[in-house]
Amino acid sequence: MLGPPGAGKGTQARRLAESRGVPHISTGEILREAVQEGTDLGRKAKMVIESGQLVSDEIMIGIVNDRLDKDDTRDGFLLDGFPRTVLQADALDKMLGGRQPLVVIDLSVNDDELVRRLSTRRICDSCGAITGSLNGKPAVVCDTCGGSLKQRSDDREEVVRQRLVVYRQSTEQLIGYYQQRPTFRSVDGSQDEESVAALVGAAVDGVAA
Ligand code: ADP
Repeated sequence: MLGPPGAGKGTQARRLAESRGVPHISTGEILREAVQEGTDLGRKAKMVIESGQLVSDEIMIGIVNDRLDKDDTRDGFLLDGFPRTVLQADALDKMLGGRQPLVVIDLSVNDDELVRRLSTRRICDSCGAITGSLNGKPAVVCDTCGGSLKQRSDDREEVVRQRLVVYRQSTEQLIGYYQQRPTFRSVDGSQDEESVAALVGAAVDGVAA
């Protein structure tokens, strides 16, 4: 699943992976866990993430390669946050070998809406649910589990702006990279969560074998 920060990739990817019974592989989540656990990877990634830049292709390709080697991906998987560069996309094609073709869903949302969503986005400490806000005031308690909601350190306004710049410089090109493939679909991500989920589901059904 492709799309700028704030497009709803994480939310939609979780839902879709759950409904199709495939693992949800979020490179952002993998990195944030490593940061929390203070592993080698976490120490390397922390500064990069908090400055809104991309972790190196070499590290990210290694992480995804190892993850796709696990048995639970045999019948499919959902990648969220990877690839983010053309180099990563080339590497992903190589990793796929004899698997079914990639289905690529691009979630598109305009910049004003992205900034609005990211500034009020909160993540649940306990269950990882992502919460937005309709009235401009961020929520405090998780609707799903009652846990406390936190702002991601890279959702501060100055970092958000930098992430959007990096998206335009490095990741947006992936739309051009994939759009000639018969398994590429662009979905309007600006509607509410349920409507977007329906569009994403229909897009996947339209291309997946
Ligand atoms: P977003 O809300 O921008 O989709 P993610 O949770 O996917 O955020 O990623 C958070 C941060 O983790 C990124 O801004 C980047 O620093 C790092 N990151 C995640 N995936 C990748 C990747 N494939 N390549 C490089 N850096 C990545």
